[in-house]
Amino acid sequence: MTLIRPDLDTLPAYVPGKSVPGSIKLASNEVALPPLPAVLDAIAEAAAGGNRYPDLAVVALTEKLAQFCDVAPEQVAVGCGSVSLCQQLVSATCRETTDEVVFAWRSFEAYPIVTQIGGAVARTVPLDAEFRHDLDAMAAAVGPNTRLVFVCSPNNPTGPAVTDAEMRRFLAAVGPDVVVALDEAYFEFVTDPAAVNGRTLLDEHPNLVVLRTFSKAYRLAGFRVGYALGAPPVITALRKVCSPFSVSIPAQAAAIAAIEHSAELLAALPPIIEERTRVREALLAAGYTVPVTQANFVWLPLGDAAVPFAQHCMDQKVVVRPFPGDGVRVTVTGQEENDAFLAAATSFQA
Ligand code: PMP
Repeated sequence: MTLIRPDLDTLPAYVPGKSVPGSIKLASNEVALPPLPAVLDAIAEAAAGGNRYPDLAVVALTEKLAQFCDVAPEQVAVGCGSVSLCQQLVSATCRETTDEVVFAWRSFEAYPIVTQIGGAVARTVPLDAEFRHDLDAMAAAVGPNTRLVFVCSPNNPTGPAVTDAEMRRFLAAVGPDVVVALDEAYFEFVTDPAAVNGRTLLDEHPNLVVLRTFSKAYRLAGFRVGYALGAPPVITALRKVCSPFSVSIPAQAAAIAAIEHSAELLAALPPIIEERTRVREALLAAGYTVPVTQANFVWLPLGDAAVPFAQHCMDQKVVVRPFPGDGVRVTVTGQEENDAFLAAATSFQA
């Protein structure tokens, strides 16, 4: 007799980026700037009503997001971070132990975790030589048992974005009977005009779900709000499998205020995007391999040197995110912090 399902013994842990007092944290792809004062005011005001449950249906924020994204409210599901929506997608699509979820690897570490929690089978497809999604190989991996595909653009942790043409071809190859989740957590940092914008594909593809978050560009990682855009039947299902009241009163208020101040929040991104180019070029000049990146991070495919490299950065009071045996992901932020990282990187000896 076991009390707990035995397969949880092999469930990989979600490893958060470390916060080390006195060190610069470049480990979780956050924007280092605090929430805007107007957003903090809205949170404080909302918190005063915290003796009551939040709005279960998240009506005000859903309507705000529908306007913001130019879709109907029935096309919006709000979740406790987009990671929760990833889990809800598995719950809403997979039931049999033979059901499969296809995703690229390496990609966002939550995909294998939510797949296994959902009792489904992960079918992973290696990234190509440039650390990009190989969408033709992913389409070929979709079979009769596939219920869900995650496509991550820009890809966490490697950085490249999927192009609009690639995504259209992929959706055509997969057909309408499999839910395709396009995870655009870093959408606001994308500058390549050829990159996909999932919103523009929704009308033609009722099996497409676009995931976005307030955790990155909108500086609300600690408040836990993400959203999904899709066709009403899929969105209704996502709402059904949601854990009730999971988006708190302050979180709902924070997200509404962030949308109201989106112009100011988005205006803070171009300097980070310029720094992304500078940091990557400095690393290339120092001899590192660094894939092109459309996100607020860079990837260093260091293999076995990933952990020693991260330790060396830590010794220089810069916290980066190692993926042992594979690579290191480093958030791009302000110039001073990035310089501290570049000093660590250029003084590393493998
Ligand atoms: N998707 C990707 C690709 C991510 O990198 C992250 C955060 N690391 C998430 C989803 C989840 O973000 P959140 O739950 O904070 O919205």
